[in-house]
Amino acid sequence: MRKRMVETQIAGRGITDRNVIDAFLNVPREKFVPEKLREYAYEDGPLSIGEGQTISQPFIVALMTASLCLEKAMKILEIGTGSGYQAAILAEMGCDLYSVERVEALAERAGDILKSLGYEIRIKVGDGTLGWEEFSPYDRAIVTAGGPAIPNHIFAQLKEAGKMIMPVGDTVYQDLILVTKKCGRMVKENLGGCQFVLLKGAEGWKE
Ligand code: SAH
Repeated sequence: MRKRMVETQIAGRGITDRNVIDAFLNVPREKFVPEKLREYAYEDGPLSIGEGQTISQPFIVALMTASLCLEKAMKILEIGTGSGYQAAILAEMGCDLYSVERVEALAERAGDILKSLGYEIRIKVGDGTLGWEEFSPYDRAIVTAGGPAIPNHIFAQLKEAGKMIMPVGDTVYQDLILVTKKCGRMVKENLGGCQFVLLKGAEGWKE
């Protein structure tokens, strides 16, 4: 099922980065899905993981991962650990991952699964709109929840020439925005529409 998912939903839709494809072939997605939904783990859509949150559609995880042009040992900040699946994909690609999740129960569950699969990822419970300053600067950042704008703290924690991706928009519709830090400024590229659960947090963030 995993091979079929990669062929039809990922490679079949234009994701060509070999390292991304190999990571999707190696990470057992069913482990990140609640037991009663396991038979749907390889379907072409998001699934509920409890606490009103979701594990993203495989293609969206692949698109966001591929857009970051990753190299081994890059330091990455993830906001919204959720199920831990996106984190596992990044760790499988050899990245050094720091992930922030606001719901403690999800952070704990994801941490346990990732550990049981042998991935070493640092997870913090907190408000990800503030980033994770302690380990900054990061080569890349990935925000897996939608918000009205790119949070300044996260952008500030990126290295020069670093990249970050985030769904930007309202509750109904967001665009996947890829940001590159050039001479300290944001250069944005719109990769198209998507729908994510919302980033909640400080800075007057609307729910
Ligand atoms: N990357 C996840 C998908 C996460 S869904 C996966 O692969 O499964 C979005 C997650 O963002 C949810 O778990 C939600 O609790 C979390 N979230 C929302 N607002 C947040 C914030 N301000 N800081 C950290 N996490 C947040």
